[in-house]
Amino acid sequence: MNSPDNIIFQNVQSPELRQWFAETLAAYPELKDRKIYLRKLSMKRSTMRAQPVLNRSFFRRKTRQYRVDFSDHLDVTQHVRVQELPKEVVVGWFAHELGHIIDYLNRPLLGMISFGLGYALWSKYMRKAERVADTVAVSHGFGAEIGATKQYLLEHATLPPHYKQRLKKYYLSADELEGLILAWEREHEEVEVVEV
Ligand SMILES: [Zn+2]
Repeated sequence: MNSPDNIIFQNVQSPELRQWFAETLAAYPELKDRKIYLRKLSMKRSTMRAQPVLNRSFFRRKTRQYRVDFSDHLDVTQHVRVQELPKEVVVGWFAHELGHIIDYLNRPLLGMISFGLGYALWSKYMRKAERVADTVAVSHGFGAEIGATKQYLLEHATLPPHYKQRLKKYYLSADELEGLILAWEREHEEVEVVEV
């Protein structure tokens, strides 16, 4: 699969990662005509994140560009590099980050700025944003992958306890996720029945 024109890879050499990102993005038709960056860099505090790109396009919602950053080594899993994670886990992670971007799409400039501040300052806000990102990913068909990512992170031996606590506090629980997936599947089935 060739990468579509709207993806810009920065410092991403792995052909698998490029392909997995392109495959995940293809399931988000809302982002079809939007420039999306995938960048690898050294980050101390996060492992993966999604943000608007601060350039001239930022000031217009219609043209605003977005970037998914991932750390060159995931400190949560000490010696594991993103490239070595199972595909399902990486795709679930990408799907979650793209879920954030869908959430950002409708925010006007002031909304983006207050979102950034709210996210940084207010844990309730962060909790809501993380749940929205997971929910959007599930509604785009990535329920199983979101589950795989969560399970991997919670079960991985080298994950520090504070990170696990953070996961539990801010993200959907396994039960909530299962409920969402079931609801999505049901909705999906109904649509198919109607089409038949
Ligand atoms: Zn997130």
